[in-house]
Amino acid sequence: MGASAKTPVVTRFAPSPTGFLHIGGARTALFNLLYAKATGGTFKLRIEDTDKARSTKEAIDAIIDGLSWLNLDWDGEIVYQSEREARHAEVARGLLETGGAYKCFASAEELEQMRETARAEKRPMRYDGRWRDRDPSEAPDGAPYVIRLKAPQEGEVTITDAVQGAVTVKNAELDDFVLLRSDGTPTYMLAVVVDDHDMGVTHVIRGDDHLNNAFRQLALIRALGWSEPSYAHVPLIHGADGAKLSKRHGALGVDAYRDMGFLPEALENYLLRLGWGHGDQEFFTRDEAAAVFTLEGIGRNPARLDFKKLENVNGHYLRSADDPRLVRLIERRIAAMLARDLTPQERDLLLRTMPHLKPRAKDLNELAASSAFLFRQRPITLDEKAEGLLDSAGRGRLAALREVIAGVGEWTTAAIEAAVRDYAEREEIGLGKLAQPLRAALTGTTTSPGIFEVLEVMGRDESLGRIDDQVGKTA
Ligand code: GLU
Repeated sequence: MGASAKTPVVTRFAPSPTGFLHIGGARTALFNLLYAKATGGTFKLRIEDTDKARSTKEAIDAIIDGLSWLNLDWDGEIVYQSEREARHAEVARGLLETGGAYKCFASAEELEQMRETARAEKRPMRYDGRWRDRDPSEAPDGAPYVIRLKAPQEGEVTITDAVQGAVTVKNAELDDFVLLRSDGTPTYMLAVVVDDHDMGVTHVIRGDDHLNNAFRQLALIRALGWSEPSYAHVPLIHGADGAKLSKRHGALGVDAYRDMGFLPEALENYLLRLGWGHGDQEFFTRDEAAAVFTLEGIGRNPARLDFKKLENVNGHYLRSADDPRLVRLIERRIAAMLARDLTPQERDLLLRTMPHLKPRAKDLNELAASSAFLFRQRPITLDEKAEGLLDSAGRGRLAALREVIAGVGEWTTAAIEAAVRDYAEREEIGLGKLAQPLRAALTGTTTSPGIFEVLEVMGRDESLGRIDDQVGKTA
């Protein structure tokens, strides 16, 4: 089974456009891409847009946007399944000629009866094969028909799945499923098999909700005498509580993760590590992952989505992201907070402050929020906690400290810190007792980067001005 060693690997991601690229889909795409990269193969994209009501341009764009944001770039042109209906029908009709398929004239009422019998016997509905060996000439003239696969009825089929291992199903459990509907449109089962074949797909890597379909698809592939792909059915992502992923758990489009302030490389690394591992290495560049990626390395148990973990991973990538990029990524968020754009000077201030801001944030929204104090107009408004630090004692300390800071010669973090420390020692005041009111006055909050760094990046005039605004206040 499987493609011969010499056939170049072709993988594909085949999403049905449902309005967004959900994270399970993103992970499937990533595995397909990595496997292609790992084997020097090709990764293709096929949009399964045969459901015309749901497959709007917006839904397709959402998938393409999501893939682009995650840098999951495919090779060659996108294949649109809806454009290939004529080819699908041609294959079904060809199979009719070779006897691998047959026309079924069973009426809607007959099928309903089969369904009812199945319900009564508490088993899944299976078409009973009533037209399998009957001559089509027995059907009334011009009666509508579907084309069904003449599936094997005896024996069993085993799929050796790279993730699930050997899985066997009895042929008696699979019925003669429909390939072509009476209106001439292909079924999903037919379309997938024909497209995978025509695209030269050697490895089908997809969610394990498709494992059952694989047995039917394989029966069709064999009837057509086509080469069989290798299969890897990847466990779905579940919520932290182990239940099937729902909106409540974060079964959202990747665009929602972008809005939550995750970096694409962080989401990628998180999705990669979710149910796949290589030793205890935590972080991989794409090239590193591709160098060691195997399908067998994918775990068989459902992966659980863990936001805390994702945030930690994101924090890691934020810390190592380069500063101009981070400025670009949070600029719009800051503008929304301030209800105005940043000036070039402010952008420069943000860039200079970034090394102090980024070690403290777990996502881009937090990063943006933590920088907002830089751009507030004097006198700045203090939050409640900061206000609390500036009681009369705090304000008294701040007033004395103002003179120390004003006397600093060279306006650098080191010089400011030395002067303040020296003063704290002389006056026998704990550094915290000084830093807290200072932070409140300068940032209007009680959390910020190191206060000496804040002083340096804000500059002498702005810093002293903000201190004066608080010192000058009457209690
Ligand atoms: N279009 C299917 C889906 O979005 C995937 C089909 C396949 O990978 O074979 O679930």
